[in-house]
Amino acid sequence: MTNIPDPADFSHVRDWVFDLDNTLYPHHINLFAQIDRNMTDFVATLLQLEPEEARKLQKQYYHEHGTTLRGLMIHHKIDPNAFLEKAHAIDYSALLPHPELGEAIKALSGRKFIFTNGTVSHAEAAARALGILDHFDDIFDIVAADYVPKPAGETYDKFTQLKRIDTAHAAMFEDLPRNLIAPRALGMKTVLLAPRNLGEFVIERWEEVREDDENIDYVTDDLATFLQTLNRG
Ligand SMILES: [Mg+2]
Repeated sequence: MTNIPDPADFSHVRDWVFDLDNTLYPHHINLFAQIDRNMTDFVATLLQLEPEEARKLQKQYYHEHGTTLRGLMIHHKIDPNAFLEKAHAIDYSALLPHPELGEAIKALSGRKFIFTNGTVSHAEAAARALGILDHFDDIFDIVAADYVPKPAGETYDKFTQLKRIDTAHAAMFEDLPRNLIAPRALGMKTVLLAPRNLGEFVIERWEEVREDDENIDYVTDDLATFLQTLNRG
């Protein structure tokens, strides 16, 4: 599925924006399974629901509001910090240092950002485990986004304005096609991280990759190799 990138296509890029989960580490690590379970537990405890009912509501909010958190804030007025702390209380040991990825990010010319629907502490823990944290200039998280998650356009505007990103000279890397719609409309280069061996994963139907998606410039299943190719250009 890897597209070989044309380095000339990225030579104008001065700001490099990376999603965190399933982008800076591959989908098969499945860190999200732990976060997912924690969120189910949170909903079950909060609303005194059986796990099955809690899970249904959790997924309903995810679909309706982009994140479970957003749905819980709107419908149940929860404290977002309590939720985020609980959701991200996970074991990061599945993430191993990835020196080639670190070198490739470091070698990109310009600023590098993590732009996540998770928290700064989650992003720092994951990037630190991968050994790549020091190569990023800044992290923009769900708290900075006032809890309005990607793919909301207002959150991309907030991010690009706060960090003074000229979107005509920026590139965005993401694993969810819908999160590349806004950056593409803003003139950014877009790269989709697609999971390897897709058949092994149960993914939401709306998260499936369409080969003809016009919001996606490139698709790759190997971020380090993709960036190395750009750096050789
Ligand atoms: Mg992601």
